[in-house]
Amino acid sequence: MKDVVILGAGVAGLGAALAAGKERATVFERKNHIGGTCSSFKIGGFTFDTGIHLSFGDNKVLRSIFDQTPYSTHVPMPYNYFSGIWIKHPVQSNLYPLPLEMKIAAIKDFVQRPSDIAINSYADWLLFQYGEYLTRTFHDVYTRKYWRKDPCEMTTDWIGNRMKQVDLEEILSGALAEKKEHEYYINEMRYPKSGGFAAFLEPLKDLTDIHLEKKAVQIDPMRKLLAFSDGDKVGYDQLFCSVPMPEIVGMIEGTPEKVRSAAEAFACTSVCLVSVGFDLPDVSEYLWFYVYDEDILFSRIYSPSIQAASNAPVNKSSLQMECYFSKESDPDITQDLVKENAFYSMKKLGFPVDSIMFVDVRILDYANVTFTHPTAKARKVVSDYLESLGINLIGRYAEWRYLWSNQSFVSGYDKALRTVNRYGS
Ligand SMILES: Cc1cc2nc3c(=O)[nH]c(=O)nc-3n(C[C@H](O)[C@H](O)[C@H](O)COP(=O)(O)OP(=O)(O)OC[C@H]3O[C@@H](n4cnc5c(N)ncnc54)[C@H](O)[C@@H]3O)c2cc1C
Repeated sequence: MKDVVILGAGVAGLGAALAAGKERATVFERKNHIGGTCSSFKIGGFTFDTGIHLSFGDNKVLRSIFDQTPYSTHVPMPYNYFSGIWIKHPVQSNLYPLPLEMKIAAIKDFVQRPSDIAINSYADWLLFQYGEYLTRTFHDVYTRKYWRKDPCEMTTDWIGNRMKQVDLEEILSGALAEKKEHEYYINEMRYPKSGGFAAFLEPLKDLTDIHLEKKAVQIDPMRKLLAFSDGDKVGYDQLFCSVPMPEIVGMIEGTPEKVRSAAEAFACTSVCLVSVGFDLPDVSEYLWFYVYDEDILFSRIYSPSIQAASNAPVNKSSLQMECYFSKESDPDITQDLVKENAFYSMKKLGFPVDSIMFVDVRILDYANVTFTHPTAKARKVVSDYLESLGINLIGRYAEWRYLWSNQSFVSGYDKALRTVNRYGS
């Protein structure tokens, strides 16, 4: 009899299933396909991804699976769009294209930035790193667009190497001359030659036992029993769960009020993905870029047809635009509004809207978990409780952490490997 049950066939659930083995583990997935945020979809001859863009993890097990799919490598060369100016990423290292008065203000404020402030929030961190002008002009604006929070509401524990720290020499060299090299915290990114990102997960289908269209609705941790929306029930010895943490709480009867109210404090963004097909080749010269203008609702714009030529038919190309919003605090952001703004934004950014073949709009409920002060405390209360019930939390949304796909895979794989070893194979 199988003793390991895994909820969710995203990359975390598939990682856990791989470690536990097909003989012991069953995966239940509520959708009719695997992949979660790493899945892909087709529109005509175009391929787009549901959130994910590129793989850059070097975990050996992950590579042994992903590398079975033929892939191309990309050297990251992101750009920023600011009021009609294209700036290499990150802005603080590449001030060269900005008008002289902006450069002077940025450098002056960088030199005069406070050196002795206590860092209690992301706002403090930004001010300490970059000074007032760069923070106010670029980082504050982008934070509100991407995280849907003010930097003073956010903690700093998620930053890691994601935000480039600079010294005066670096700022000056990037302001006085255009840098030839791009700098990014990742050197190489990989993407399947065909089939979209989801093609990387294909080998996992044969190695795991997956049951699709099985939405778990109830967990009874005392009796170690799961109930599904179709009325089926299944028992387990070990449970691995990649369902978003606040939703897991809602699946358990008798959860203490303290835990329930902590789960309500969780904050995350959703993303409205606008995928556009163009009846012309090479619509964009950039694989991806960030947008600072606030009248453009999109924070990040990718070109899937650069990720892989096979993502668009011959002589056609594509864009995918990301509008982040919070279901709680942005009730005005509707799919219709985002679609309307997509046309406005593409025109402003110089894309040929006359060549558009289709515009697809879809929403991903869970995009980025948001790092606010209340969430940090609440996360511990809820995860301690769920783990005390023997529920192993895996992946980005069950762990409620800022995990890339490779880290989500490792989260599932490592936890299952440790547990399986502990209980024998
Ligand atoms: C916009 C965006 C861009 C990103 N870009 C990158 C990138 O370029 N590179 C990178 O490495 N990472 C990227 N990431 C992060 C990466 O996508 C995630 O780390 C990873 O996909 C999370 O995998 P997961 O398995 O933890 O969660 P998910 O992919 O969400 O999987 C969870 C699965 O559980 C299923 N499920 C939910 N509830 C139930 C239920 N009740 N019963 C049964 N099944 C259920 C869901 O349908 C889903 O399939 C990006 C994320 C976003 C949002």
